[in-house]
Formats: sequence, C-alpha cells, structure tokens
Amino acid sequence: PLDKVALGRATWGLLHTMAAFYEDNPSDNQKRDMKTFLEVLSRVYPCEHCAKDFRKDLKEHPAQVNSQYEFSQWLCKFHNRVNVKLGKTQFDCSKVNERWRDGWLD
Ligand code: FAD
Repeated sequence: PLDKVALGRATWGLLHTMAAFYEDNPSDNQKRDMKTFLEVLSRVYPCEHCAKDFRKDLKEHPAQVNSQYEFSQWLCKFHNRVNVKLGKTQFDCSKVNERWRDGWLD
C-alpha cells in the first residue's frame, strides 16, 4: 500500500487537478457531484485519523463549488489547514492555478 505521505501527495495531486479542470460555470449536478465526492472521500480515505479531521474540517468549512476559481481557492485553503496542522509552510493561494493548471510562469 501507499504510506501516509505518498497517499497524501497522490491525493492532493488528484484533488488540485480536479479543481484545475473544474467548470467555470458548473451545473447543479456538477456541484452536487463534487460535494458528494469530497464527502465520500472523507469517509473512505484510508488513513483513519486523517479522515476524521477531514470530516470535521468539511463540516466547519463546507466545500465551495460554484466556480473553478471558488473551488480551487477553497481547496487551497483546506490544504493549508492540513499544512498548518503538520507544521508545513503555507502555500500562496494566489498561485494555485499557476501550480496546478497553467504551469509556473517565470
Ligand atoms: P503535500 O502536502 O502532499 O502537497 C503536495 C504538493 O502540493 C506540494 O509539493 C505543493 O507543491 C502543493 N501544495 C502544498 N500546499 C498547497 C496548497 N495549500 N494548495 C495547493 N497546492 C499546495 N498527513 C498526516 O500526517 N496527518 C494527517 O492528518 C493528514 N491528513 C491529510 C488529509 C488529507 C485530505 C490529505 C489529502 C492528506 C493528508 N495528510 C496527512 C498527508 C499530508 O497532507 C501530505 O500529503 C504528506 O505529508 C506529504 O506532504 P508533502 O510535503 O509531500 O506535500
């Protein structure tokens, strides 16, 4: 199996890439699907204590899925809350599309 670190890195890659390609104008179905996906993921994520905090965070900060911008910013802030918990550096959320969608512009 993947260990906690490899699983986390792969999962963040999936989630941020999903946010990168999320619709600018999602339909009600697309919004509902993304919320459902996150809720189910938070129940089946195969790191029990991670999943427990994930469910708590989702309750306190419900996913914002009304546009690509909104969802990618919400996800960035969610990831930053996990970064804080783990003592990692904060990611600059103004750079999230550069990192996960457009490629670094430098
Ligand atoms: P990661 O945090 O995996 O990030 C991968 C890459 O994403 C980084 O290299 C950076 O380029 C980019 N990035 C970093 N922050 C952001 C951001 N805010 N927005 C956009 N991009 C960003 N581990 C535990 O030990 N305990 C836990 O409770 C725990 N809970 C987790 C909950 C979830 C839902 C997930 C997906 C993972 C969790 N993890 C947990 C794993 C942990 O978050 C990391 O994935 C793991 O420690 C590997 O860290 P990393 O330094 O490689 O970078």
